[in-house]
Formats: sequence, structure tokens, C-alpha cells
Amino acid sequence: MTAERPTHKKCRQCGEWFNLSKRASLKQKFCCGSCAATYRTSDPKWRKAQSEKIKAQCDSEVMRERSRKAWDDPETRAYLTEKTRERANTKEHKAYMLEHNKKMWADPEFRAAQTESKRKRSVKQWEDPAFREKMSAVTTQTNKKRWADPEFKKRTGFRIKLALAQPLEKKRKSAESKERMNRPENRARASEQAKQQWENPEYRAFMSGVSHETAVKRWQDPVYRKQQIANLKKASQSPEHRARMSEQGKRLATDPVAIARRKAWWDAGGKAKQIEANKKRWADPEYKARVSKAISEAKRKPKP
Ligand SMILES: [Zn+2]
Repeated sequence: MTAERPTHKKCRQCGEWFNLSKRASLKQKFCCGSCAATYRTSDPKWRKAQSEKIKAQCDSEVMRERSRKAWDDPETRAYLTEKTRERANTKEHKAYMLEHNKKMWADPEFRAAQTESKRKRSVKQWEDPAFREKMSAVTTQTNKKRWADPEFKKRTGFRIKLALAQPLEKKRKSAESKERMNRPENRARASEQAKQQWENPEYRAFMSGVSHETAVKRWQDPVYRKQQIANLKKASQSPEHRARMSEQGKRLATDPVAIARRKAWWDAGGKAKQIEANKKRWADPEYKARVSKAISEAKRKPKP
């Protein structure tokens, strides 16, 4: 009598008991081929090895061509997209992605890399005239729509006025946005958007009304006026301002467009106007005294 041969075994994959046929190997572990395959393919090590093996056997160019062809077929593409969507929309997958993203973004290196690549992408996009044009069109459309809505106009207009009326808040905000806007990725976009805003007649009319109103009101305040004049004086004497002005002067003196424009203005009666304006100014005794004094002082002072 031989040792008793088991008639049933438990499947390693599905856990069901199965009939072990008389001729089957005692080593059989699975109830069916499908369970065996599922067990095998769920092992990452096996999957990796299998993929390596196939890669070694295949011509990658051929494979690429094949998947490209499959993707070009609308039916296959629809099927694959649908499958991906199904997978991505499961509760489990969403929960997994949430966790995954949290983990990724907690890593400062990842965060820096993402920010940097986003920045680069943005810079590149805005360098493309076609993209810029497209975005301009979009912005123009949006602005027109918004400003045509009386509710938006009222609300936004009120906010703008309120913000302009609060110097401190404005200062803080402008320092903040200046810093932000000076980043190269934002500069092109901001200038484009501002341009688009100003091309909208509704916006232009509103803003010119607002700024003129505010400027006039403020200028009537003697403290503000004195402060502004002092600021201007100080700014005009700063080395930066002087350097900028001298740079600009040099540029305008040699720029052919500027030269042509000046000449055209001069020929079109600009010369006569200039002479007339000078005469008028020098006829004012206060102007004459002030400027003469400044000139003689400048002559006496040695150049720095
Ligand atoms: Zn099974």
C-alpha cells in the first residue's frame, strides 16, 4: 500500500478547495490556469523580470510604432481612454492620489523642481507669439464680458476706488505685486494683460476718470502736495535717476526713429512753437531770476 494521495487541495490564489485529479502532480497549487496566472502576475518581481525579458527580445522601434498605430485608431484610443478614466475615478485611486500628492509635495526638493519647471514652461509659452496672441484674445473677450456686466462694473469699480483711497494698503500691495511682477515669467503676461485691459474702452474710460479724480483731490491737500514735490525732487537727484536719464538721452540722440520724429516735429512748426514758449517763459521775472541763478551756479561749480 502506498501512502495515501490527497484528493483535494486549497488554491493558493482564490482559497477554494479543488479536486486534485489522479494524474495531477502533487505540487499543484492552483485550482485553474487563471488563478495560477493571476498569482504570478501580481508578483512585482516577476512582472519586472518579464518586462525585461520582453524588452530584450523586442525591437523598441517596432513596439513604439505598434502602439502609435494603436493610438491612432480612434476606437482603440477611446477604449484606452475610457479604461484609464474608469481606473482614475475609483474612490481607491482618488484616495491613493491624494496621499501620494501630499507625500510628494511635502518633499522640498520636489516642490522646488515643480515650481521651477512650471516657471520655465510659462516663460517658454509666453515667448511664443501664437500663444500670446491666443491669450490676448481670451483676455480681451473676458474683460469685455466682465465690464459689460453692470454688476461687475459697479462692484469692481468700488473696489478699485476703495483701494486707491487707502495709501498704506496700496503701498503694501504694490510692493508685493512689484516683487511678483518682476519675475520674468510674470512680466510678459502682466504687460500683455494690462495692454488688453487698456484696449477695452469701458475700462479705459473708467480708469481715467478714477485716476484723474483721485489725483485732483489729493493734490488739493497741501501736506500731500509738499510731500510729493519733495519726493520728486529727491528722486530726480538720485544717482539712479540721473544715470537713467543720461542713458535715455544718449539713446534718443542716436535712435534713428527718434531723430526722424524730432526732425518732422521741428519742420512742422515745432521750431516756432519752441521759440515762442521760451520767450514767454523768460518774460516771467520769477522764472528768469530762478533759472539765471541756477545757470550761474552751475557754471561756477566744477563738474563732478
Ligand atoms: Zn483558484
